[in-house]
Amino acid sequence: MNQLDRDRYYLQLAMEEGTLAEEHGTIPIGAVVVGSDGEVVERGRNRVFTEHDPTAHAEIDVLRRCGEPLIKEGKERPYTLYTTVEPCVMCSGAIYLSRVGRVVWALSDDNFGGFRTLSIHPKYERRFNRMEYVAMPFYDFAENQRQRMIRWDIYKGRNNSWPEIDKET
Ligand SMILES: [Zn+2]
Repeated sequence: MNQLDRDRYYLQLAMEEGTLAEEHGTIPIGAVVVGSDGEVVERGRNRVFTEHDPTAHAEIDVLRRCGEPLIKEGKERPYTLYTTVEPCVMCSGAIYLSRVGRVVWALSDDNFGGFRTLSIHPKYERRFNRMEYVAMPFYDFAENQRQRMIRWDIYKGRNNSWPEIDKET
């Protein structure tokens, strides 16, 4: 499998976690952490509304479940985190503090996403540039996730905007 096929495979697992989150009545976002030899370390999903915890985002959930292997010692960052929406600032900070060196997400979030902003912020860019990110590599996943977020916002009576995705991206 090449990198793109691998990314698709693991992002699909994150999408499945997002499906579970949606079925359980919380924000439909899932995340997976994968090691350098391709093993899935843990899967996580949003639990904000199921566990009444504002910090229970999918990325925080999966990092907590990974435990010791993700504790940062030294500079090595052998793990990849797949998530269905661009991490917010809280999750981006947590990811930086872990041993994740690569982040792949299905749908960028111009509203509350934080990873791209921190990557170019003068105060944080040097730290965030130790990690690579891949934004929206697959149109179908991006569109699927976008539709979920729109459903969630309607359910919550919100009117956030999830702009249409250019098929070329
Ligand atoms: Zn978050």
